[in-house]
Amino acid sequence: MSKKRVFSGIRPTGEIHIGNYFGALRNWVEIQDSYDCIYGVVDYHAITTPFEAEKLPRLTFDTLAALLACGIDPQKSALMLQSDIKEHVELSWVLSCIAPLGQMERMTQFKDKSQQAPEYINLGLLAYPALMAADILIYRADAVPVGEDQVQHLELTRDLARKFNNAYGEYFPEPEPLLTHTPRIMGLDGKSKMSKTLDNHISLFEPADSLRQKIMTAVTDENRKRRSDPGNPDICNIYSLHKTVSKEEEIQMIDRECRTAGIGCVDCKKILYGHMEEFLCPFREKYQDLQKQPDTVYEIAQESRKICQPIAQETMTEVRNRMGLRKI
Ligand code: SF4
Repeated sequence: MSKKRVFSGIRPTGEIHIGNYFGALRNWVEIQDSYDCIYGVVDYHAITTPFEAEKLPRLTFDTLAALLACGIDPQKSALMLQSDIKEHVELSWVLSCIAPLGQMERMTQFKDKSQQAPEYINLGLLAYPALMAADILIYRADAVPVGEDQVQHLELTRDLARKFNNAYGEYFPEPEPLLTHTPRIMGLDGKSKMSKTLDNHISLFEPADSLRQKIMTAVTDENRKRRSDPGNPDICNIYSLHKTVSKEEEIQMIDRECRTAGIGCVDCKKILYGHMEEFLCPFREKYQDLQKQPDTVYEIAQESRKICQPIAQETMTEVRNRMGLRKI
């Protein structure tokens, strides 16, 4: 039996942080053997919010290299660049003509992003969930790995697939969410979700010296004022980071010793730094290696285009035929 197909995309933000990794990308890597995976750097999405044209190629390349460094294996999965496959945009137009305007206006990300950049509210920003739906439906994907903030978009994708099927005959599968355990990684400020924009992040490729500096200055349990005060690991960000890279016995030891002031925050952070550095080192080395081989990285994207574009073209031929966009 053939494997089910999965699609997922990431905007070309360049730097991938550990929140992205533990929240999504680790799962992308893990499911490569169980699904027929198509992953993409979705660069058309990048132009819906403020961007710099001179920097976009570098960010796109870095994101491709980052995904490979994370463990996306071109022998198992496709890793394509959205703007290489124009059918994404063509299907997006078709879906825009099916999508109810009111539903698009209610999408929370449209509201959030409009507030973040009120001078940059454009039609593409309103329509970008239709492009997101097109990214998935163009490959007739069966499932999509989703985090909690993408559930609404997947629901829209399912709605649009259903609307198309009702109007023009059953064609698109309604993609299922692939829900996995994705821990919410807080930023080093201990207040907001880890984010590059908020500059509270640890890069997956963070150099050892800045990793140390970031961990040693990170916010902990703010109620613990002195070394002799007991702490509460449940509200400490350093403790939640231990859970991502430290061994179970050590996590238990920190939980116990923190509550009785048996361990101080400086020592606790030093232990975290040691494990985090050990964890990140292979990612950083692979990423640095790929930075020296741009041709290899672009070649992988081109090989993936050769796999993905025929599927996308087949979908568009069928869609055009069903919608009467053909000769008599
Ligand atoms: Fe957080 Fe560790 Fe300090 Fe406890 S000892 S408050 S877990 S940094």
